[in-house]
Amino acid sequence: MDNLLRDRHTPAELAASGQVIEIAGKLGDLEQLSEIVRKDLETLNTDKLPPDWRESPVAGQLSFGFADAQDGLPTVAGQVGVTVPATCQRCLGVVEIPLEVELRLLLGGDVANAADDEHYDIWELDEDTLRPLDLLEEALIMAIPLAPMHVDDAVCKQPAAIAEAVTETRRPFAKLKSQMEQED
Ligand SMILES: [Zn+2]
Repeated sequence: MDNLLRDRHTPAELAASGQVIEIAGKLGDLEQLSEIVRKDLETLNTDKLPPDWRESPVAGQLSFGFADAQDGLPTVAGQVGVTVPATCQRCLGVVEIPLEVELRLLLGGDVANAADDEHYDIWELDEDTLRPLDLLEEALIMAIPLAPMHVDDAVCKQPAAIAEAVTETRRPFAKLKSQMEQED
């Protein structure tokens, strides 16, 4: 992963640089997301584990700039994608989940000052500086479905009745996410 993704800067510095960051890495670079995936896969028999899942490519682009002419509203826009393995909540096999995130964020500042024709979500900053890597990683974690399942019934073998019971009792991502939120 690019150092630009790992270094801490203020949003204003990033925006002023007009930096465009090409994202080309692997799932293993995203430590929090990898940890969530690893914990989820722990329930699988080891012979079902996809080998080298940490090598799954992460690709995308982030560009920084300002939303307003006065350079008071730093923004980031772009997209990032990675495919992660997960335990299917119906058949308890492995299902590959493609996570694709579009970002269009105001990095702090007052959204009321943003130009009317622009639509940004506000990204709350806990500190004065941010690591772009943390931002895209958090966005990917938010994109994980609460109950991952196979889309194709031919692949997913679990009878429906059992599936419902399983979905009720096993929601590991939901649990992990709420744990992470409490830790923050
Ligand atoms: Zn399944």
